[in-house]
Amino acid sequence: MEISLKTITNLEQAVAKRRTFAIISHPDAGKTTITEQLLLLGGIIRSAGTVKGKKSGHYATSDWMAIEKQRGISVTSSVMQFDYHGKRVNILDTPGHEDFSEDTYRTLMAVDAAVMVIDSAKGIEPQTKKLFKVVKQRGIPIFTFMNKLDRDGREPLDLIAELEELLNIEGYAMNWPIGMGKGLKGLYDRAQHRIELYRPSDASKRFLPLNDQGQLAVDSDLTQDSIYQQTLDDVDLLSEAGNSFDLAKVQKGDQTPVFFGSALTNFGVETFLESFLKMAPAPGEHPINDDSAELAPNDDRFAGFVFKIQANMNPNHRDRIAFVRICSGEFDKGMDVTLARTKKQLRLNNATEFMSDERENVENAVAGDIVGLYDTGNFQIGDSIYTGKDPIQFAPLPQFTPELFVRVNAKNVMKQKSFHKGMQQLVQEGAIQLYKTYTTDDYILGAVGQLQFEVFQFRMKNEYNSEVVMTPIGSRIARWIKPAQLDEKMSSSRNLLVKDLKGEPLFLFENKFAERWFQDKYPDVTLTAKL
Ligand code: GDP
Repeated sequence: MEISLKTITNLEQAVAKRRTFAIISHPDAGKTTITEQLLLLGGIIRSAGTVKGKKSGHYATSDWMAIEKQRGISVTSSVMQFDYHGKRVNILDTPGHEDFSEDTYRTLMAVDAAVMVIDSAKGIEPQTKKLFKVVKQRGIPIFTFMNKLDRDGREPLDLIAELEELLNIEGYAMNWPIGMGKGLKGLYDRAQHRIELYRPSDASKRFLPLNDQGQLAVDSDLTQDSIYQQTLDDVDLLSEAGNSFDLAKVQKGDQTPVFFGSALTNFGVETFLESFLKMAPAPGEHPINDDSAELAPNDDRFAGFVFKIQANMNPNHRDRIAFVRICSGEFDKGMDVTLARTKKQLRLNNATEFMSDERENVENAVAGDIVGLYDTGNFQIGDSIYTGKDPIQFAPLPQFTPELFVRVNAKNVMKQKSFHKGMQQLVQEGAIQLYKTYTTDDYILGAVGQLQFEVFQFRMKNEYNSEVVMTPIGSRIARWIKPAQLDEKMSSSRNLLVKDLKGEPLFLFENKFAERWFQDKYPDVTLTAKL
């Protein structure tokens, strides 16, 4: 009895240390650069400039796909783990390319917080907005890093206002830039009541204290600088007219703490990481079994869900890896778990944890961590696994409404069998969405990004020896209609009628005009988007 109590206490402590998050951004905002700086701070890499291009070792998880090499981009999310100031940090990478996929969205289901990196010259860009929407729905904390302060960007006040206008989230500036671009002098750190100098001549004088009035408490050239006076005015304005800090709102994702900085020159990143780790939540409870119960992270039963399956594109190793977010308990190699969907027992012999290989005394993975399980076809995306007698089933992962569509056929009509098998398995796995035209049952695939089609095509050939021909339909707006309201005459080339896997009808509208035209023509019909 004593032993099990001790284990639980250890588990509690281990879980409390975990901080699991993802970085979201529009391509080129600086996600890779800031990730590098974080890994540098975490002691995983020794110099910056090694993440992009060198996709081996720690980043081997994203090296599997030949397609990725061909295009020189990161197709799949990988996981990086390091220890920092007593916390164990898990960063789940989300592909930064604009041709992203459902994987990107699903990765956001496996984190406890998100960091939004924004290019301060560009403000909020389309990809950020899409990803933000998914994070917001989860109600998890969202932190903002306004990047590239070493370049002339937009007015900081504008950037904060834009958060509210475009994303409908309150921004609270944790710090404020003192100048920008060539005139960048430093950061006025409201949270830590100090000034952080940009490239100080004396590294030991990087931080300068503020007095009770919020002004420099020590002699500095900065006091004579008009930009400093301007910053003091801005900060006064923020205190009087800006949002006040509200941790409860931050925790729900209704307010975002905003940090300014420059990832490239490693300015403000450490300050960000320190504050972030203080505010970001440890793993919390998860609703299970149709919301009838909550599973605590330090429950001693192991449980988790598969949020992503990555096929190994190397034809010599046909295995796949199922990425599991651990939601409770502790993972042990060789443990027996039950797969909730089939009630089958599985022994988890082959697992990979995402840790720095240089670290000694590697603890087991616990709630908050991610494990990659070598899979021979047992898992589907969204699967729950657990130990113990009582079933544990996590809420299903949301389906993301596809925006791009293609018609798909087998190139070789004699090879229908492998074509259908591959289609069925990949669709079941959750790699892509399948639809059929309403009357003729032609296959149509839907994805959130073009890359998903290419990965699908690649896997059909490599894993099922089936060459597929894809004819682009282009981007469409998918809207479901109640079967009772459906009349097949409603379908036209501008609103193609299809059915989903459950047989439910939906229209693929050519564009917003087509949708509006349809609504005007059939005002009584209710159309719904499924996100
Ligand atoms: P990602 O696509 O979001 O991963 O963006 P990257 O991290 O690859 O950065 C895109 C480009 O912006 C690269 O050329 C970076 O060197 C550059 N960059 C990133 N952060 C900064 C920054 O703070 N200042 C400046 N001037 N450039 C940056």
